[in-house]
Amino acid sequence: MKNLNLSDEKLNHSASHVLAQAMQKLFPKAKLGIGPAIENGFYYDFDLDNKISEQDLEKISDEMTKIIEQDLPIISKEISINEAKELFESQPFKLELIDDLSLEGIKSVSVYYTGNKFFDLCKGPHLKSTGEIKALKLNSVAGAYWKGKETNKMLTRIYGAAFLSQKDMEKYLWRQEELKKRDHRKIGKDLDLFSIDPDVGPGLILWHPKLSIVREEIELYWRKEHRKRGYEYVYTPHVGIDNLWKTSGHLENYKESMYPEMKMPKKDKEEETKYYVKPMNCPFHIKIYKSRPRSYRELPLRWCELGTVYRYEESGVLHGMLRVRGFTQDDAHIICTESQFVEEINKVLDFALNLNSDFGFKELKVYLSVRGTKKADKYVGKVSSWEMAEKTLEEILKERKIKFEKDIGGAKFYGPAIDLKAVDPFGREWQGTTIQLDFNNPERFSMTYTGEDGKEHTPIMIHRTLLGAMERFIGTLIEMYEGAFPVWLSPQQVAVLPISEDQFKSADKIQKELSDTGIRSVLLSNQTLNSRIRQAQLEKIPYMLIIGKREVESKTVSLRLRTGKDKGEIKLTDFITLVKNKVKKKSII
Ligand SMILES: [Zn+2]
Ligand SMILES: [Zn+2]
Repeated sequence: MKNLNLSDEKLNHSASHVLAQAMQKLFPKAKLGIGPAIENGFYYDFDLDNKISEQDLEKISDEMTKIIEQDLPIISKEISINEAKELFESQPFKLELIDDLSLEGIKSVSVYYTGNKFFDLCKGPHLKSTGEIKALKLNSVAGAYWKGKETNKMLTRIYGAAFLSQKDMEKYLWRQEELKKRDHRKIGKDLDLFSIDPDVGPGLILWHPKLSIVREEIELYWRKEHRKRGYEYVYTPHVGIDNLWKTSGHLENYKESMYPEMKMPKKDKEEETKYYVKPMNCPFHIKIYKSRPRSYRELPLRWCELGTVYRYEESGVLHGMLRVRGFTQDDAHIICTESQFVEEINKVLDFALNLNSDFGFKELKVYLSVRGTKKADKYVGKVSSWEMAEKTLEEILKERKIKFEKDIGGAKFYGPAIDLKAVDPFGREWQGTTIQLDFNNPERFSMTYTGEDGKEHTPIMIHRTLLGAMERFIGTLIEMYEGAFPVWLSPQQVAVLPISEDQFKSADKIQKELSDTGIRSVLLSNQTLNSRIRQAQLEKIPYMLIIGKREVESKTVSLRLRTGKDKGEIKLTDFITLVKNKVKKKSII
């Protein structure tokens, strides 16, 4: 999780209280859900009798401005659970939250007053008074389930953002516009890249031919790089019997995220068999390991798979290709001895840094996910193993002089992890590489190897994905490059444009020559030259070759870039070398 900066948090969280206060004024029967600060803004959830839409936002925003102009003080008060229950008597959602807190053994809660009429159950922190908010923008209205659960009531969520100056707001609005242009769902539609069909299912991506080229290129590169680094490919099924998921602990710890079981009809005396579609690839790789006895001589084993998994995410969090229900992980499991573990982690880090840089992600934010301090947090495996692993991962990062942030409580129940997140020019962080240690599975599945001493040992298991998921990664690329993929990934690399019909034949010959050398190219011969250029630009094809009478005579082509830049005449053979070099170097532009 990206940590919010404290002053942004105070500002936006205070604005969310102001929003709730305004809503209570306008809709006295409104029931309040929660209203946190989020990255670049805030939201508040309401249960309303009447439906509201974006058209109501102006009215609400005006009411908020009144509260801001009154410069009401924001003051906290600590009260007992019973007092809180009385105070929030008419607010069922707040009562539920108070009950949750009381179940955790908490005896008192804090309440924040804005002026003396409005109050909210809240941990804070907040601004000193509403007047510190200098500008405000309400963005959108959406439906959101209470506590994010589909079985709960659907509430109305209002999104907004607050600012300490008018200038900050202008900067924010510019950024919003830029991000809207880059929205991969919009670009995906405009460029005919992918679709999601309600008959197939929410969160399930249909890859259209053009985007499939991008994926294929990435997969080819991915395979080559893995082979180079001593990985072996494996393939495993999409479903497995319940026993497998019992042993792995998924049915115990992960069932809510899995698609429900498939029951196979019983034959005489047979027990009913239940299958689950896989949410992870690990148990299958472990079964390959366990298919025969293993010796220390074989280790480390590095097995990779582009494995498609399914996880039933709540519909409220689904988002184009970025949050989906079916995705292909670029997964690998490294099984090694204790003495090999540091070197293996270092190798994965090298690999990950290389790969990220090849896709143009130069700025990375690194997180070390470790155990939390809460009693309720449960972690499997020995405390000594955890201590050793957390310490070692930290030392590796320090040794490499990699700046990192500790995500306390961010570790999964089975082991600590290193996460690398790509940062885009807008400061957004994209989940990519995860290097995860596992103290759970080797024991659960009784994985062993015979050591040099002739005795049985438990190996160390590292799970890692470098790109994360193909869907999310390529969705990220679309947003990063605004659909204008680097040459090596572009579905079409070159558009050949004859100026008039007289050059059609020569243009056709040039296009075929490009194809023969493996360059993806298309001949555009529709309507006028201007409309051909426009089409190539709309499709974000990196290079346009314009073929006129002069070019045919001198056996050259006129080169134009998708940015609109004219590069003048160039020999076809030189152009082919240029494209090949860009592809080979994985040039970004
Ligand atoms: Zn609050
Ligand atoms: Zn795994």
